[in-house]
Amino acid sequence: MNVSETIGLDVNKVRDSFPILHQQINGKPLVYFDNAATSQKPSRVIQKLVEYYEGYNANIHRGIHTLAEKATRAYEGSRESARQFLGAQSTEEIIFTRGVTESINLVASTYGRKFLNKGDEVIISGLEHHSNIVPWQIVCEEKGAKLIVIPVTDTGEIDLSKYKSLLSDKTRIVATNHASNSLGTINPVSEIIKLAHERGSMVLVDGAQAAAHLPINVVELDADFYCISSHKMYGPTGVGVLYGKKKLLEAMPPYMGGGEMIKDVTFEKTTYNNLPYKFEAGTPNIADVIAFGEAIAFINEIGKANIAQHENELLEYAHRKLKEIEGVRLIGTAKNKVSVVSFVIDGVHPFDIGQMLDARGIAVRTGHHCTQPLMDRFGIEGTVRASFAVYNTKAEIDSLAEGVKRIVNFLSK
Ligand code: PMP
Repeated sequence: MNVSETIGLDVNKVRDSFPILHQQINGKPLVYFDNAATSQKPSRVIQKLVEYYEGYNANIHRGIHTLAEKATRAYEGSRESARQFLGAQSTEEIIFTRGVTESINLVASTYGRKFLNKGDEVIISGLEHHSNIVPWQIVCEEKGAKLIVIPVTDTGEIDLSKYKSLLSDKTRIVATNHASNSLGTINPVSEIIKLAHERGSMVLVDGAQAAAHLPINVVELDADFYCISSHKMYGPTGVGVLYGKKKLLEAMPPYMGGGEMIKDVTFEKTTYNNLPYKFEAGTPNIADVIAFGEAIAFINEIGKANIAQHENELLEYAHRKLKEIEGVRLIGTAKNKVSVVSFVIDGVHPFDIGQMLDARGIAVRTGHHCTQPLMDRFGIEGTVRASFAVYNTKAEIDSLAEGVKRIVNFLSK
């Protein structure tokens, strides 16, 4: 592949560490542009899983034998890596979950159930993934609270002035993503949090699409809850982190009951474990948590600034190349975006475009991207979404543009 770009980042070297990228799909070199759904995993992350299962597979925390101690150290090492990655003050505030979906459900079902009352209001943005809509709908319905949505502008941004007018003394929870998975829009979370706090509301940030691209510091943001997912950060599936402020986590009831989350159990009464274990019932996903630590190390070694610079170049290049193609309409043109490009070709179903691109070895996502209300807002069924990661290249974007051009020509005949 002809790699011409960039900066302090050797893309060829990065690509070499991802075995999956070096294959042909339908006789063409794989171009993987479905990174917002899940990113690929470098060898070092895959190797961590092998090392654990071949070398020190054991259950954690309760064992006193050598393997159990080694596994516990590695698992807790990942917790410390996640703490540093998010800029949290204490590992007590870092809870391992299965992913962002579980993290949001945890907060909605514990904090939401305990603190929402009839007539209270929960505000979400119109850009949310179904994971940051449905859990709030469930708890609002149960508690008689009202779910309110911040409108989205034509460029795919949160309407901040509308948001200000929606906030009131009834607002208890504001939930928003840091970056939109469908459009790439980076939301002004710092301002959103500040305004919510002025009205006494807590804020949950869905960082699924931010974690691999943007700097995050939960203390500087003053986020009450912040959720990330390993599989979108070059790590394994089935692992996420819920960051929560200690005083909030302490005030919340447990999510699931079982082993590990208890201090003392009798048939009459159970006392709960300290943070973060109160929220980690049962045997956790030990291997994947350990490998997630390695994925964080991978991101740290490349550096978020290098990643952002590279991906911004790709984003700008892709916007430019796709805009040149007649019939292509970009959806989501916010000034601040992570490396996600969504587009439609009027009169052509996104699914058909996706299939034709797959025939050329190019993997994109098509459909509503789990953001049906956002698609409704734009009056479309779905989009074609190309999302970039640190290992993607401008040459790959040329292939995408060439593929889209051919599809447009073919269909206009
Ligand atoms: N929120 C956003 C913005 C997402 O992009 C995703 C994943 N597509 C989720 C939530 C769900 O995350 P997970 O796969 O970790 O459950």
